[in-house]
Amino acid sequence: MSAFCPDRFIPYGRPSIDEEDITAVVDVLKGDFLTTGPAVLEFEALLTDKTGAMYASVCNSGTAALHLAYLALGLDKGDQVIVPAVSFCATANAAAMCGADVIFADVDHQTGLVTENGLKEAAQKADPNRLKALSVVHLNGQLVNMEMASAFAKKHSLILVEDACHALGSSYDIYGQAYQVGQCAHSDLCCFSFHPVKNIAMGEGGAVTTNSNEFKSKTDQYRNHGLEMYPDQFVAMPGDAKDSGASWHREMHVLGYNYRAPDILCALASSQLKKLTKLKAERETLVGRYDRAFSAYPDLLRTLPKAYHQNPCWHLYPVFIDFDRLEINRETVIQKLKAARIGTQVHYWPIPSHPYWVEKSEDCSYPNADSYYKAELSLPLFSGLSFDEQDYVIRQLITVLRDGNHDA
Ligand SMILES: *Cc1c(COP(=O)(O)O)cnc(C)c1O
Repeated sequence: MSAFCPDRFIPYGRPSIDEEDITAVVDVLKGDFLTTGPAVLEFEALLTDKTGAMYASVCNSGTAALHLAYLALGLDKGDQVIVPAVSFCATANAAAMCGADVIFADVDHQTGLVTENGLKEAAQKADPNRLKALSVVHLNGQLVNMEMASAFAKKHSLILVEDACHALGSSYDIYGQAYQVGQCAHSDLCCFSFHPVKNIAMGEGGAVTTNSNEFKSKTDQYRNHGLEMYPDQFVAMPGDAKDSGASWHREMHVLGYNYRAPDILCALASSQLKKLTKLKAERETLVGRYDRAFSAYPDLLRTLPKAYHQNPCWHLYPVFIDFDRLEINRETVIQKLKAARIGTQVHYWPIPSHPYWVEKSEDCSYPNADSYYKAELSLPLFSGLSFDEQDYVIRQLITVLRDGNHDA
């Protein structure tokens, strides 16, 4: 066995920034627009090009993207929205920011993806007159069955939002026809995050894609203080503005936010997006290598079951460990790996378990979400992880699991 030892800490995720990315950012810094300039429009054009959606609104985080999507669909105080129990808390939080009530749906205990059963149970808890939207989360980069989700949304007259913060670059096919995530072929709005650990890095950033002209103008409006952008929509021009053509006049119709993304970061994001095919291929190769290596240890861990008819851009590499049966604590595993310079993380403690959400909902029993969470551990997965480093991660994890709680 080789005595490979990593020369630096291997985190569970790391952005992959090259000289081209740096040059793109520096070019913006030397120009006239640090924000609200051409780099924003260029990134939006590239996003529609890559996803196939008609429109994209770029904003300054995935959370802002979710909030903008919910605002655009008119989610309001007293409305209800279904959100899967396993996701990053922002999927639900953004609905609460609109004053809406969240009804959590249980997920598949092996994939963490929302199921038809989970959705049906959630719908039974909802008030049909208040239920307005459904959010689905493409966990780990693997996709929710969109044919099922869109049929469910249609049946209950819900606006369908995809939280694709993990899944930029993923695609699926239905009856031989391929669809990109973000294309919104089976949804109304799709949200992305470009946080540095996500599939492309922007620093902080996000986007909403849609094929609806109305949703696009609303997301644009809400991200910029609620200011109306089209002069033909002005309703309250003061006299002097009317008389003179009103080039300065701007009016606010709804309460909006400052969710604008700066050109500096959009330039980075465009440069990264141009490399998505390569970044995706690297992640896929690493996932294949992990899967093959771990298939030899079914007694120690399970890998993620892969859904058919899709081509994910893998965001996370989760493994599932029966810590009780192996008589080892998850924290012990995490600490031993950390001592070996390997970073891991747990994705996610179910949202309804968070104290804020416990207080807001009567029902906090999501058995499949709990069992997914109990076994999950995300291993390093990023473009630039070398095979030597990956083999080292595999060896260390197997050793730690074999040793159990004994000191190594
Ligand atoms: C990262 C993430 C978000 C939030 O994105 P930010 O850019 O960090 O605000 C929302 N949902 C999911 C599933 C995420 O992974």
